[in-house]
Amino acid sequence: MIPPNGFVSNRVLKLNVGFLLSQSLGTSREVEFDVPPLLVADDLKLAFLRGTLRLSRTSEGILVQGVLESSVEGECRRCLSAMSVPITLHIQELFALGPGKSEFFIDDAAVMDLTPLLREEVIINIPLAPLCRPDCAGLCPQCGHNLNLGPCDCLPDDIDPRFAVLTQLKKPE
Ligand SMILES: [Zn+2]
Ligand SMILES: [Zn+2]
Repeated sequence: MIPPNGFVSNRVLKLNVGFLLSQSLGTSREVEFDVPPLLVADDLKLAFLRGTLRLSRTSEGILVQGVLESSVEGECRRCLSAMSVPITLHIQELFALGPGKSEFFIDDAAVMDLTPLLREEVIINIPLAPLCRPDCAGLCPQCGHNLNLGPCDCLPDDIDPRFAVLTQLKKPE
């Protein structure tokens, strides 16, 4: 169910791993994610979340490994238009049994919450300066026109000053 704001809640990131904790060490299960727009935190929305995580029972807790693909809203560094920025998250993290031992842990109800991990991974992996396309023409430095939409009426501002002098000389008296 997608709520009216268009995002599913981060409840989908809370996994009950009771079944795995009762298994012998080394047992693993795969959890597949194919989540529509997701509200990870108030300040973090993902357009989708796809991929598979392998959860493995270890002596210390549960090791989470896998690759997730997602996308966040961002801004092109040259033309400042809104764009979706693809991100790939390579997850490898141990969820400890009970709080205190690790930033990431499994609570008393055998629930592990992937939210803080995902939030951290997304923030680390967001490209700092994405481009809407490799040859983005950017904005005119004089009038701010988006040059991807065509040229503006401004004169090029990179005329060599020596040539500027020549233009002066050529001017009719
Ligand atoms: Zn751009
Ligand atoms: Zn211009």
